[in-house]
Amino acid sequence: MKAVRLYAAGDLRVEEIAAAPAPADGEVRLRVERAGICGSDLHNFKTGMWISRSPSVPGHEFVAVVEAAGAGACLAPGTRVVADSRVVCGRCAACLAGESFHCENLGFVGEVNDGGFEPYTTLPAAQLVALPDQGLAADVAVLAEPMAVALHAVARLNPATGVPILVAGAGPIGTLVATALVHRGYGPVMLADRNAARLATAAAASGALPVADLAVLPHVPGYAVDATGSPAAVSALLEVLPGGGRIALVGLFHGAPQVPLNAVVEKGLDVVGCAAFRDELPAALALLGEVRERVAALTGRPIALDDVPATYAELMAGASDRIKAVIDPFR
Ligand SMILES: [Zn+2]
Ligand SMILES: [Zn+2]
Repeated sequence: MKAVRLYAAGDLRVEEIAAAPAPADGEVRLRVERAGICGSDLHNFKTGMWISRSPSVPGHEFVAVVEAAGAGACLAPGTRVVADSRVVCGRCAACLAGESFHCENLGFVGEVNDGGFEPYTTLPAAQLVALPDQGLAADVAVLAEPMAVALHAVARLNPATGVPILVAGAGPIGTLVATALVHRGYGPVMLADRNAARLATAAAASGALPVADLAVLPHVPGYAVDATGSPAAVSALLEVLPGGGRIALVGLFHGAPQVPLNAVVEKGLDVVGCAAFRDELPAALALLGEVRERVAALTGRPIALDDVPATYAELMAGASDRIKAVIDPFR
């Protein structure tokens, strides 16, 4: 079968590989319906930062159907599932304390094992969550993992109601953060991005107010979320937040960025980091069921496995108007 495999930083290949193995005890073999390309996939491609085995089939965001179940696997064939992307070690101090969320050896599906950028993949059943609504469209269900990340960022931001919130970055995470905030009645919510086409789609889907320029805001925000990983954007957010404001950082930075930390000190800002998610995956699936019409526009037409390298390049160049690129491995 055809698969996309990452060999090293900058070395992504589409090639023929052996069929996914029959499931061992506790494992299931999955037929992938859709797989999403994540910002962290691009980051790993660019830097090789999380390459722990080579080659590896990326893809921690996918929706799939159980094809075959090994002995003791708790998922019946025909069940539609998404992956819990986090692979925890179970041995470190955090895991032993029941805080596997902070696992010191945290790995991800698609890095420590093969993920969803192939038609069939085999994973432990314990790594998977059945869709509560088995009829949820694949183009919506594929957003489960990024929506869990978005809900974790909302939980970390912990905003009071009625206070304006500024979200920077209309990529998948920023757009889903804005969607969750609006749907839960927070805000007014403002969503900022420099790509006008992407911003228009993201604002329409999320219900947030579009902001083309961080220097011209309809409301003074009490809270901010950075989903860009851009030092310039974070600097602007630190600038516009008033004293006592809070900023949640969910975008990944390249290198060690220069940002004006004196704004944090002088204005007594709270800065919170948001890593992956905690136990938000079931809530993310439930929320996607409620906002399915709104978010259906975020994925657009799925691409084929052969298109993945070119789409990586397009996404990294910021040239894409897509909010979330998704793959149909059977195209
Ligand atoms: Zn992701
Ligand atoms: Zn651990």
